[in-house]
Amino acid sequence: MVSFEEARRIILENVQPVGTERIHLLEATGRVLSEDVAAPWDMPLWDNSAMDGYAVRHQDCVTIPCKLRVTGFLPAGAKADGVIVEPGCAVRIMTGAPVPAGCDAVVPVEETDNGQLEVTLLEPVTKGQHFRFRAEDVSAGVVFVRNETVVRPPEVNMLAGFGMALVPVYRRPTVAILSTGDELVELGQTPGPGEIVNSNTLSLAAAVRECGCIPRIIGIARDNRESHLEKLHEGLKADVLITSAGVSAGDCDLVRDILEELGARQMFWKVGIKPGGPTAFALHGTTPVFSLPGNPVSTMITFEEFVRPALLKMQGYQRVLRPLFKAVLKEELKKKPGKVQIVRLRLEKEAGRWLATSAGNQQTAILKTMVDAQAIAVLPAESTSFAAGDEVDVHFYGNHIELE
Ligand code: AMP
Ligand code: MG
Repeated sequence: MVSFEEARRIILENVQPVGTERIHLLEATGRVLSEDVAAPWDMPLWDNSAMDGYAVRHQDCVTIPCKLRVTGFLPAGAKADGVIVEPGCAVRIMTGAPVPAGCDAVVPVEETDNGQLEVTLLEPVTKGQHFRFRAEDVSAGVVFVRNETVVRPPEVNMLAGFGMALVPVYRRPTVAILSTGDELVELGQTPGPGEIVNSNTLSLAAAVRECGCIPRIIGIARDNRESHLEKLHEGLKADVLITSAGVSAGDCDLVRDILEELGARQMFWKVGIKPGGPTAFALHGTTPVFSLPGNPVSTMITFEEFVRPALLKMQGYQRVLRPLFKAVLKEELKKKPGKVQIVRLRLEKEAGRWLATSAGNQQTAILKTMVDAQAIAVLPAESTSFAAGDEVDVHFYGNHIELE
């Protein structure tokens, strides 16, 4: 048995990004850049006006109010070639238009009488005011987004501003999902006596998608050698393989043996975590194989704590573990020492502190408590019980906009 921390360390040490690709900018939000990106040109490309107003020479405007002759008009999109601000003159200019030769300041229309042929300036003018200078945002050749940056709308805006329709990002791994068990029927079939719906495949596919990867549903391996051989072989063609069930010490638990037969190298089996103890991790070549226990709560918790960080790392993300924060228990939590205990919680905020209550019955077989959980407490292996009022480390489970 390995500890919770050791299991995570072994997993994260043995997974790497699976490659890179160039994709359209529109698809890149949320993805991770795989190269530094340098500006192909200055931003902005030319000095331009930051306001709607008048382009002037500041030395003409020493005494206020001051009257200037308006000799031209430059809307956004106009070319400033040949337009000159002569002494004693002004050119009417709109935001974003290139500033004409001769001027060194822009006076906002709100600080004038808004004259068309002549304009009176009502406020003092300083040199360079309301100018956007060439390259003041970014100079040509400067790296403006680094490798490993997560693309958000601001990055999209800047990449688009530089005309980059295709951007280099880490590839999204394909993740094969294989359930095992003779008791399983597929979604759409009504379970007969002794049968249950293969819900883990759907839940795992949802979780895989939620962290940005591409699920490949392999189906069900029945509890015999031939079926396992065939389905595991198929699953190993993906970048990652996740199996559910058949990994404990039962008579029909074949996953680990058949994986070994297919050439996978087991890195660990059994982790000091509850629920989720029988989890195994193996490498087939460089393909990570996660064998998760079949109990739906255990499957989801081990995905959350072990598989999710690995899938994020494989896509180039740097922050792969959910941040832990403190929550104050409203009720006591009992636990035995020796294993990390995962507790499903509900949270509320009071006077700037998070308060936590149990989301319900914490037994592994109770799925509804997982549905109700907003957060998970990761209680350290060595700890025993926690009293009401004690602080524990928790992380969100899923995205809870209503809690933010
Ligand atoms: P096992 O590890 O094969 O002993 O399975 C542990 C428990 O998880 C049993 O109660 C199974 O019926 C249940 N289980 C296994 N596979 C699935 C699945 N794909 N969907 C939902 N429950 C499952
Ligand atoms: Mg089974």
